[in-house]
Amino acid sequence: MLDLTYDAPKPKVIAGAKHDWELVIGLEVHAQVATNAKLFSGASTEFGAEPNSNVAFVDAGMPGMLPVINEGCVEQAVRTGLGLKADINLYSAFDRKNYFYPDLPQGYQISQLYHPIVGEGEVLVEMGDGTARTVRVERIHLEQDAGKSIHDMDPNMSFVDLNRTGVALMEIVSRPDIRGPEEAAAYVTKLRQILRYLGTCDGNMQNGNLRADVNVSICRPGAYEKYQETQDFSHLGTRCEIKNMNSMRFMQAAIDYEARRQIAIVEDGGEVDQETRLYDPDKNETRSMRSKEEAHDYRYFPCPDLLPLEIEQAWVDDIASDLPELPDAKKARFIGDFGLSDYDASVLTADVENAEFFEEVAKGQDGKLAANWVINELFGRLKKDDKDIADSPISAARLGQIIGLIKSDAISGKIAKDVFEIAYTQDRDPEEIVETEGMKQVTDTGAIEAAVDEIMAANPEQVEKAKENPKLAGWFVGQVMKATGGKANPKAVNQIIAAKLNG
Ligand code: ADP
Ligand code: MG
Repeated sequence: MLDLTYDAPKPKVIAGAKHDWELVIGLEVHAQVATNAKLFSGASTEFGAEPNSNVAFVDAGMPGMLPVINEGCVEQAVRTGLGLKADINLYSAFDRKNYFYPDLPQGYQISQLYHPIVGEGEVLVEMGDGTARTVRVERIHLEQDAGKSIHDMDPNMSFVDLNRTGVALMEIVSRPDIRGPEEAAAYVTKLRQILRYLGTCDGNMQNGNLRADVNVSICRPGAYEKYQETQDFSHLGTRCEIKNMNSMRFMQAAIDYEARRQIAIVEDGGEVDQETRLYDPDKNETRSMRSKEEAHDYRYFPCPDLLPLEIEQAWVDDIASDLPELPDAKKARFIGDFGLSDYDASVLTADVENAEFFEEVAKGQDGKLAANWVINELFGRLKKDDKDIADSPISAARLGQIIGLIKSDAISGKIAKDVFEIAYTQDRDPEEIVETEGMKQVTDTGAIEAAVDEIMAANPEQVEKAKENPKLAGWFVGQVMKATGGKANPKAVNQIIAAKLNG
């Protein structure tokens, strides 16, 4: 295998090969719809339930059972489409994709091939270096998930758990607009963020609630631009599809491996076969699973058990009027309203719960200070305890109090950290802590002056030295802070010491 490294920035030109190569990537993301019941049955979608306890007759493919569409799933798909600024198709229809899997007893998957519920949309993908690109979404369709075959519980038998069979998925298909592994991860991250804001998918990748099929091809510089101009896929290389990636890290590694593999083949005079591949994280390689199947291999046909799905514009408008503020808008507002840096605003809006918590803290307070405290102190502390913001032992209101105490000079930033720790670990009110523990900052200049005088009187040599070299004044600041238990207002201390040394 060639030793290939990527040149920054985009598009990714791959160095080390005989020629320059670029990557072209398109993602099919499967997002489990956040609903209580399955797409065509009333069975529960609860994760981790007793195997085969959430299975309706229709999920088990019992003869004579008929699917009934779950309106909640349709609403979630529409909401997702609106969140991705996509066209909503008032007419869509379900098709049968025929294939046999033990964990799909119907013998076919009900999906939407010809008439998906959502059309063209977009995702703004921001990269760490401050650049951003729009990745086009081609379509979103609703389909059923399969169950789970279990092969590692018994040496001679396989088991099947149908709890997931029939759970609603949204398949979100991107255009091949993604140009490298980092961008692919950034796209999935952004998509996940939007879905979580919308409440249409919980985005839990470990549980497989969000997973991606990753299509990768390579092309020579210039070819992608030709594709963009004409939308003619023949300008692009042959793609391979890596199935079912549910880890950002492995997805990037798989793309990286796949690019090198394809380049080596082509530079060796060979041709890339269009196939479906699996990534093996232990060996860090992709392996062929099957040659690429085409739509006609599945004998798709309109599902005779379901009428076409017709929805009304007024209903779509209703859902649209009820959309929450989405990440891009929230981030822009945080920058505008609270004067946050782009970076801080990104960190705070990455997760909707974090963003809401921050807004609570910042209410009526200095926004930048609040952002610093939430990001550095609170997130740091929660991480140490392996806790989510939802389980934060300190409430937003109490953290806001601490910000207020700092801002009004009642406590110094340093003491504030002690107050925070007490409030966090002992579930106490910051104002009460400051009062009870006598932590109020000494701003009384008389008291500070007395402390300075005492220290100067005890250290005449230091005074002489500091008069010659003003840099040594810091020593006195330290002494005063020590003498006052860190409670003296540092600004006042500095001023008084400077006045005395210069006087
Ligand atoms: P299928 O279900 O057969 O895989 P889809 O149309 O559902 O086909 O998905 C194809 C995916 O592959 C899309 O995300 C598309 O953007 C992407 N894709 C198509 N051609 C290429 C290519 N040459 N290189 C990389 N990705 C591609
Ligand atoms: Mg595919």
